[in-house]
Amino acid sequence: MDARATIGLTGLAVMGRNLARNIARHGHTIAVHNRTTAKMTALLDEFGDEGDFVGSESLEDFVASIQQPRAIVIMVKAGEPTDAVIDALVPLLDEGDIVVDGGNAHFTDTLRREQALKEKGLHFVGMGVSGGEEGALNGPSIMVGGSDDAYEKLGPILESIAAEVDGTPCCAHVGPDAAGHFVKMVHNGIEYADMQLIAESYDLLRSVAGLEPAEIAQVFREWNDGDLESFLIETTAVVLDHTDAITGKPFVDVVKDVAEQKGTGRWTVQNALDLGVPVTGIAEATFARSLSGHTEQRAAARKVFDTEPEGAPLDDRDAFVDDVRAALYASKVVAYAQGFDQIAAGSDEHGWGVDPGAMATIWRGGCIIRAQFLDRIKEAYADEPDLTTLLTTPYFANAVTEGADAWRRVVATAVGAGVPTPAFSSSLAYFDGLRREHLPAALIQALRDNFGAHTYARVDRDGTFHTAWAGDL
Ligand code: NAP
Repeated sequence: MDARATIGLTGLAVMGRNLARNIARHGHTIAVHNRTTAKMTALLDEFGDEGDFVGSESLEDFVASIQQPRAIVIMVKAGEPTDAVIDALVPLLDEGDIVVDGGNAHFTDTLRREQALKEKGLHFVGMGVSGGEEGALNGPSIMVGGSDDAYEKLGPILESIAAEVDGTPCCAHVGPDAAGHFVKMVHNGIEYADMQLIAESYDLLRSVAGLEPAEIAQVFREWNDGDLESFLIETTAVVLDHTDAITGKPFVDVVKDVAEQKGTGRWTVQNALDLGVPVTGIAEATFARSLSGHTEQRAAARKVFDTEPEGAPLDDRDAFVDDVRAALYASKVVAYAQGFDQIAAGSDEHGWGVDPGAMATIWRGGCIIRAQFLDRIKEAYADEPDLTTLLTTPYFANAVTEGADAWRRVVATAVGAGVPTPAFSSSLAYFDGLRREHLPAALIQALRDNFGAHTYARVDRDGTFHTAWAGDL
């Protein structure tokens, strides 16, 4: 077999097939393979004329068709299937070859796999790919974790197929081993928070302001002309404007109100707990999806607590709509600040040296959370690379300060009306927690010392203290 492909890809379901087409369309000769051969032949039949594909039925022929050192992208189901493919590939590879996992792997799996392959003289790259199937085909955002040597070979190919904003590719070498998959995980967590905040805004505009979905779509379109401009806000307008073809009702009214999840939000929160980083926006968004799925409990509670709180009547609907916009923006700033805190903490913990500004840069295109305000985050890190928190940088401090009164009014109105806004409320609580001079944590420390002799630090002298409480022996 003539080894003429510059890169190989195995796993040709929706993501792999689109990524392979994207690579081929950019002039790279690509070897393609799938466990079930029909997917490989279908790709060649339908899109073979888009570029130079080398199709193989067996893994042996596939590997033999790639130039050395080989770069092989795996795009199969995350978890055990990825391990199965790695196990089958490794005996066929030579020292210096690069195995790339482009699936949604948990970053700890990537750490394990990288270690195992390094011992065999192979490079293992954990590659976070964002943007879904459309992004995979037309330009995703790519977060690459792995060695410098591996990136030297892969970088030019990946940068050529990534989305581009202002001439900059949305692809970066995030750091070694699992850095790329870690950052992709947090990216997905931020996406959860973003969507929950949008959903809460919609609920308030509908339930409190009394707007119909089509009217709310118009509000979102207007918001998309300002600071909130983003793929998700734009898409929300499209979805809210959509009418169900079967019933003629607003589409959002025929969709069951149970939000599903594949796990990356949960992973983000679990990791944040380990790192001790309060990602309250992401956590509330993840729990809100869980709550929506507890349909039996919801039905039981609905029977017992069936009286709607009256809430105060709205004096000025337009003013409330604008308050919701300000609250959404301030909460979004908090959610992103928390996500970037987690990236910094993860990077410290694993010694990855992640550049947060580079993450904001590559999320500006290709991915679901692409948004105008990522430019502001990029600038904030350019001005101050060792930023303590994004919240205090001039642009975001101003946005949050200007929005704070509206934020409080919206949360108070929501509480009065019995409309749950866990992400709005927890983001505001986080902001107040950060900015307050004194926190009741002092009482918690005193209690811990009282019942558990856990000791405490004092405000007026250095050291660790324990008080002889009445009852102490
Ligand atoms: P998928 O449904 O997750 O997986 C299907 C692919 O995995 C098929 O090619 C299948 O081969 C292969 N496969 C499953 N078990 C296998 C095994 N034991 N050995 C060999 N191959 C096996 O496909 P997908 O939706 O295209 O996703 C691919 C990866 O991208 C996943 O890790 C997914 O989490 C990730 N993903 C990312 C995004 C994103 O936005 N970034 C979106 C979707 C998915 P057969 O055809 O032979 O069954």
